[in-house]
Amino acid sequence: MDKEILDKYIEAGRIAAEIRESSKALIKIDARILDIAEKIEKVIKDKGAEPAFPVNISLNEIAAHYTPMKRDETKIEKGDVAKIDIGVHIDGYVGDTAYTLSFNEKYNKLVEASEAALAEAIKLCKPGTLLSDVSAKIEETINSFGYKPISNLTGHGLDCYDLHAEPQIPNIKFSSNYKLKEDQVIAIEPFATDGSGMIKESEPTLIFRLLGKGPVRNQDARTIMAFAEAFNGLPFAERWIPIDSIVKIRIAMRELRERGIIYDYPVLKEAKNGVISQAEHTVIVKDEPIVTTK
Ligand code: MN
Ligand code: MN
Repeated sequence: MDKEILDKYIEAGRIAAEIRESSKALIKIDARILDIAEKIEKVIKDKGAEPAFPVNISLNEIAAHYTPMKRDETKIEKGDVAKIDIGVHIDGYVGDTAYTLSFNEKYNKLVEASEAALAEAIKLCKPGTLLSDVSAKIEETINSFGYKPISNLTGHGLDCYDLHAEPQIPNIKFSSNYKLKEDQVIAIEPFATDGSGMIKESEPTLIFRLLGKGPVRNQDARTIMAFAEAFNGLPFAERWIPIDSIVKIRIAMRELRERGIIYDYPVLKEAKNGVISQAEHTVIVKDEPIVTTK
């Protein structure tokens, strides 16, 4: 890999890791998730980087893609299991990392299950490893804790301004001859649950990505389109849009969606409302794998 690119991945990962660790003090009972997300996103910018996506704070049966709304009053409550997913980029090179904090003792083992699966999977991130072996290891480890992996959520490759590059890295065993290659940058993210092991798309959608441009009638839609260009195809939050009214934003989004200008990331929920844990690191495939977000 080009030294300059490697350095940016390493730096983005280092910042993401630093913020992940410092953010843990913010995740406490009665804290507003809006305040948590805004603080984390501000620290990313203060450190000279940019969010690669809006901070995801997904509680309990929500697996991913919940980011606070404008004026969101949701608070962390006793008994919650909170997943915090943080993305940092430098010139499009991303560090993607996530962790789970449980405020319910009953789920401590669920948190351990995804962490252990991640640790085991990382050991295999060497050139020539069958991707299916990484996935099988994740499933086996989560099962050994008495839980199920989420079968329809995957880890993913990373590329410049591309958050979900090839390959997809399933959290269950599958059949493929695909082998990991030296210098590939991948995000591994095991999700464990006491539910069905499947997620489904749910309401609302709070995270979007700009796909292209096109003629639109609505003035707010034009504002959003111009605003979204700055993210170079990376995801952005409804909360970040410089229009105060959520109703106006959602009307404009409908037009943008219908015209194929906007891609949606709807909130993802466990199909049987099981509780979910997640752990994630960004890894560069090497004989000694480099965990950029360690
Ligand atoms: Mn992530
Ligand atoms: Mn990811």
